[in-house]
Amino acid sequence: MSNIETIVIVGAGQAGASAILELRGNKYAGKIILIGDETHLPYERPPLSKDVILKPEDTKIEILSAEKLADLGVTTIRGNGVTQINATAKTVELQNGDVVAYDKLLLATGGAARRLPNFDALGKHVYTLRNLEDSQALVPVLQAGQRILLIGGGVIGLELASSARYKDCQVTVLEQGPMVMGRCSPRILSEFLLEQHRLAGVDVRLNTQVAACRLDGEEIVVTLADGEELRADAVVYGIGIVPNAQLAIAAGLDADLAIKVNENCQTSNADIYAAGDVATQLREDGEFRRVETWENANLQAGIFARHVMGVEHPKANPAWFWTDQLNINFQFVGDMAATQWLVRGDMDAAKGADNSFVMYGVTDGQIVAGITVNAAKEMRHLKKMISKNTAFEAEKHLDLAQDLRKIA
Ligand code: NAP
Repeated sequence: MSNIETIVIVGAGQAGASAILELRGNKYAGKIILIGDETHLPYERPPLSKDVILKPEDTKIEILSAEKLADLGVTTIRGNGVTQINATAKTVELQNGDVVAYDKLLLATGGAARRLPNFDALGKHVYTLRNLEDSQALVPVLQAGQRILLIGGGVIGLELASSARYKDCQVTVLEQGPMVMGRCSPRILSEFLLEQHRLAGVDVRLNTQVAACRLDGEEIVVTLADGEELRADAVVYGIGIVPNAQLAIAAGLDADLAIKVNENCQTSNADIYAAGDVATQLREDGEFRRVETWENANLQAGIFARHVMGVEHPKANPAWFWTDQLNINFQFVGDMAATQWLVRGDMDAAKGADNSFVMYGVTDGQIVAGITVNAAKEMRHLKKMISKNTAFEAEKHLDLAQDLRKIA
């Protein structure tokens, strides 16, 4: 589509960076302007709760270097975010008042940590984790012996619990729901994870509500709904994200909390697209859903780039994400709401990081989901089985003598 001269990408995160590679990969030869409000070049977020804290010196998180961006012919504007979209004039206005024109605009603005105002009001010893500075700020906090209270037993809470235990902190996790990682894991694996954390010395409290918090000198005192008081040196909360959709909402684009996009990642304005955590996409069942994963940011960036270039989308793979906790690699693919879960191998919480097994999620006799636990190399076979609508056969799929590569 040679009539597109300028594509502006707002948001220099995973989706924004991936969109650049996808545009160039699909032979887009026009101008790309990448605008970010952070001062950094695009970087990976998955290491922020792990390696950036545990081995900051050795951890490289940059996705696209300045040289690579220059090679790709990208103009980058950093630390000068967009404050307004003028959809009629097809321009965006920046913090410093500059106006940038676009032919096509991609909003890849991600999300912000959902706030707990009563904790923020304490003014010190309270942290969240979303960007590089947040992660670096935790390095001096997570020191041996420190009492760390994590609020939220989701991926952030558990990955940080794991990092904090490596650092020999005393760790407590407060989760309001009945399960850890309850938003993205089936119960059977959630229970396994819970046991892993407890065996590693993490005090995980489920169904636990915070009633109040206050400072007592340099300590934070948290009162639970049942009246118990917990004292901590620091509180880190990870209670989900809020999509950064304000620009789109102000510009009159269709949105709920997130920006609504169609199957091509187009918003209600055909020249404006959205991808990643900020986008809620129309699915085959007629519902809009947001998927907060690294893979989805890349996937939607690809959908955007191909649509702009008039290239057909390949069939999407089943949704996949991973987490690393307590030296265990967990990978998830497909529909975590599968009605039945079956374990191939030996699932024994007491074995800790020596565990290695595979799980199938089965609905109506068909493999619709899979999980690998320290068995990453089996993941692609599970993906294949799901994509091929494979019927689950216990004698075949659970038999360790059968090579998954051959039966997938
Ligand atoms: P999350 O995974 O959505 O989990 C938040 C957890 O906090 C939920 O279990 C939620 O329980 C609980 N919660 C909410 N309000 C609470 C409260 N007031 N007190 C106690 N618990 C509360 O969100 P996250 O862990 O904050 O992660 C943020 C984002 O980063 C997500 O998009 C996540 O996918 C992403 N991330 C991904 C990875 C990965 O893929 N490996 C790693 C880190 C972060 P309810 O469900 O009951 O509300």
